[in-house]
Amino acid sequence: MDYTKEIEELMRLEYQIDVKEANVKQLYNVISKLIMLKVSNDWHNTRCADIKKCGYLSAEFLIGRLVYANLLNMKMTEDVKNSLANFHIDLNEFEEVEDAALGNGGLGRLAACFLESAATKGIPLDGYGIRYRFGLFKQNFINGFQNEEADDWLKWGDPFSIRRDEDARIVEFSDMKVKAIPYDMPVIGYDSKVVNTLRLWQSEAYEDFDFKAFDNMQGSENAINEYNAKEITAVLYPNDNTYLGKVLRLRQEYFMVSASLQDVLAKYKTKKHSLKDIAKYQIFQLNDTHPTLAIPEYLRLLQKEGLSFNEALEICHQSFNFTNHTIMGEALEKWPVEMLEKYLPDVLTEIIKLQDIIDNTLDNTKYYIIKDNLVHMANLAIFVAAKVNGVAEIHTNILKADTFKDWYNLYPDKFENVTNGITPRRWLVLNNPNLTKEICSLIGDKWICNLDELSKVKSYVTDKRFLEKFKIIKQKNKKILSDYIYKHDNILIPTDFMFDVQVKRLHEYKRQLLNAFSILYIYYGIKDGSIKNFKPTAFIFGAKSAPGYYMAKAIIKYINTIADLVNNDPEVSKILKVVFVANYNVSYAEKIVCAADLSEQISMAGMEASGTSNMKFMLNGTPTIGTLDGANVEIAEEAGFNYNYIFGLNVREVAKVKENYNPYELLENNPKLKRVVESLIDGTLNDLGSGVFKAIYDSLLNGNNPDNYLVLADFDSYIKTKLIANQDYGRDIFYEKCLINMASAAKFSSDRSILDYNKLIWHLK
Ligand SMILES: *Cc1c(COP(=O)(O)O)cnc(C)c1O
Repeated sequence: MDYTKEIEELMRLEYQIDVKEANVKQLYNVISKLIMLKVSNDWHNTRCADIKKCGYLSAEFLIGRLVYANLLNMKMTEDVKNSLANFHIDLNEFEEVEDAALGNGGLGRLAACFLESAATKGIPLDGYGIRYRFGLFKQNFINGFQNEEADDWLKWGDPFSIRRDEDARIVEFSDMKVKAIPYDMPVIGYDSKVVNTLRLWQSEAYEDFDFKAFDNMQGSENAINEYNAKEITAVLYPNDNTYLGKVLRLRQEYFMVSASLQDVLAKYKTKKHSLKDIAKYQIFQLNDTHPTLAIPEYLRLLQKEGLSFNEALEICHQSFNFTNHTIMGEALEKWPVEMLEKYLPDVLTEIIKLQDIIDNTLDNTKYYIIKDNLVHMANLAIFVAAKVNGVAEIHTNILKADTFKDWYNLYPDKFENVTNGITPRRWLVLNNPNLTKEICSLIGDKWICNLDELSKVKSYVTDKRFLEKFKIIKQKNKKILSDYIYKHDNILIPTDFMFDVQVKRLHEYKRQLLNAFSILYIYYGIKDGSIKNFKPTAFIFGAKSAPGYYMAKAIIKYINTIADLVNNDPEVSKILKVVFVANYNVSYAEKIVCAADLSEQISMAGMEASGTSNMKFMLNGTPTIGTLDGANVEIAEEAGFNYNYIFGLNVREVAKVKENYNPYELLENNPKLKRVVESLIDGTLNDLGSGVFKAIYDSLLNGNNPDNYLVLADFDSYIKTKLIANQDYGRDIFYEKCLINMASAAKFSSDRSILDYNKLIWHLK
């Protein structure tokens, strides 16, 4: 297809200019409109189909940059590229377009991958969430410290969304009424006629809003309530894996689920089915507890429609399923009863009715929703949901054996595992076109929609020609990344270095500190001659810290300070480089995962529910250095343990070590590690008087829970394994590991995850 004429016409329609006069934003909006035009019939047909659908309720959708992914999935990339070439415009110009970062990390990115896979596989899964005015903050560094800036993503326009005023809903809190306006995005699958919808709600002032009453809420006591309706969806909370009992966050969660459920009910009522049958047509997946207020809200709405409480509860049992994403206590949501009483009394009433059922039928010391004046959202979800799932085998086993042990004993059939996945379209075809082409030349292109086919590549892993091709492609990807890092972060990384990468949110449990210590250990080892023949390595970090997470921010400063030390050392910098790239996001991830030589997945065993970046690296042919945690376990099983670098304490050993752990003694018996740790306090590294390095030191050695994540306990095993990986690098056996990993990644397609959800939980056609 030649789109030249349509591009010209759309440019006139939208901007009244010729294509040659257009800037990047205008071009981006026109090309996006062209995609919308081409998808509109399939979108309409999918929307109108009167079939059972599932709503994926999620506070986050980390969709990233959509224009290239949509062109790819519409199979329009080549034609649009050629059409633009007629105007001497390069498709790469859209690299400037910023990501839609309506999510923090893994959980939000998972939601985006799931929607894409469902559309590709023809499964009727629609997303419901929040249209944050500002997404996850943009990160830069000032003197090595993280600095946050607002993410004004809408400055590029929002050409893939359609505002649907006709579907506006009213969401009521005890103190305010808010209008919810949906913005719909088509979810375009790869080469698929099914186009699902991502409906994101924006809050706006309700016309009859009582500004006088609002005005009267003066004084600091009420300051927290003094936002207007618009502010509910103003900004994404930048906390990953943590619960903050903030009223505004409660409002966001309720706003999203109330609007979505009202919407579903209103649409259902236009069809001629009985309300009692609604669960035969519409079910929901709760992405973590953030949307769990949907359960009492649905109870409330169904009763308003005339059903009895018991009828409404039966529908809820059939309608809701719950995905748990973490076992960390600090991440489990527990809303104070008095907060719900104050802002959402009618919702609280329904929750109390559920607690009454428990009091009357179960041992309420073991089973409870409300306890100590807190509403335990995970328990609420488990009590009502038809199915509860963990996101990797090991994580589901921990849920059953530990976190939700009593619930599992009560409802063993409720619990399922659905291991997370990633879409191979964005995470191989789009970000690694050269490797994609090479794979297609070997085994055709069926693997793109059926990743099981990728295992056919296994018969080529010892093929010298293929191995050489892979090396060349990796080298090209490394050059692209190196150029980008130089431009973006002003550090030059030679492409013949090993690229050792840890990219993910900054969390103590993810143990970026362990990686940092190993770098300093290697630095000292090279200097004193105890580490010889170390193959030149660039240690690449990317991570945002929650703005209020003191220790995470301290670790960022520490790594940036190590980077200064190493990169400015005239001798060692010939062998080592350290870079912490700023503003790690989906688009940066796309460039990084295809260029990495080693994937760092080093969380304390039991802490990372699944991880998904581990899968992105694997699919791009990068071995993992990792603990037996989350999906690392399944990665090692799929590829073979010898093809990855597994180290450290397992879940059982972690529990054992924690019984009587003495990090102080451990350091006294390990002078080399002691020297590394003392860099935090001996003046080697300067935190500019902030005291953050001493705080890290204290977290490891002093206080109630010293070294809570066993950084020091796993150090020896880690450094040993890291040095082995370093010696393997560049040899044929190393590239064999790369290729075996890539060829064994089929399980980690989110297509497989979605088909698992459908088979075990949703049962959609
Ligand atoms: C995949 C992804 C994540 C998740 O990374 P984990 O290492 O699994 O925690 C986080 N952020 C971005 C931008 C991603 O693309």
